[in-house]
Amino acid sequence: GPGAALLSLNNVEVIYDDVILVLRGLSLTVAEGQIVALLGSNGAGKSTTLKAVSGLLPSEHGEVTDGTISFRGEDITRVDAAQRVTRGMSLCMEGRHVFEHLSVAENLVAGAYTRSGKESAEDLDKVYEFFPKLADMRARIAGYLSGGEQQMLAIGRALMARPTLLMLDEPSLGLAPLLVQEIFGYIKRLNTETGLTVLVIEQNARRALEVADHGYIMEQGRIVLEGPAAELRENPDVKEFYLGLG
Ligand code: ATP
Repeated sequence: GPGAALLSLNNVEVIYDDVILVLRGLSLTVAEGQIVALLGSNGAGKSTTLKAVSGLLPSEHGEVTDGTISFRGEDITRVDAAQRVTRGMSLCMEGRHVFEHLSVAENLVAGAYTRSGKESAEDLDKVYEFFPKLADMRARIAGYLSGGEQQMLAIGRALMARPTLLMLDEPSLGLAPLLVQEIFGYIKRLNTETGLTVLVIEQNARRALEVADHGYIMEQGRIVLEGPAAELRENPDVKEFYLGLG
């Protein structure tokens, strides 16, 4: 039920190229029904954390060498990426990664590869209902959409797997402030209207802490500060180092 741990990382260690320690005993919890923001400066290890959670490690370069990742009470540390999607986690990658030569509708259907045809037709209707702009643009080629529209499409595609946990890698990347606000507005609505649990990594700490329930700040591969988002927004160190002076 709400409040229980949906995802937890326990002392996770990731090593790249056999020698570079990128996650150094990272622990964090995402409670069911929450939006959790994982913040930190460039190179802190945020993307690596999402890769470890989604099963994109081991890769050619790196692997989880210690610690455990649990999802819905089960140890998934060694479960493959496709299985994790089937079990209910969906990743929306940085830089959007839509299929540029496919239409909006085809991109969305591609996100439903883990589901049956009948289920995915229903899910498609739901995504169009939630993002009416995508419905209007269903026949357009994705490569010609604006940055904000592509981000919306990438989120819609991730939703087509009907996730319990949606993970977003820098949804604000490259977007103008107004669009950032719009995208975060959608993320908040998905959470409040459908109960979707969200883990979002961001360099735009201000925006992320406005919509999040809980925040974690990481530096050099471990968590250095955590707390309710409202507290982090008022924390003097967070203000100085992550929110800027303005
Ligand atoms: P960014 O916002 O720049 O993506 P981040 O917090 O997401 O930063 P990561 O991308 O996880 O950080 O990178 C953490 C560290 O791991 C960095 O020092 C980076 O140079 C290194 N790193 C990332 N990918 C690899 C790789 N494939 N091989 C070796 N080192 C890597």
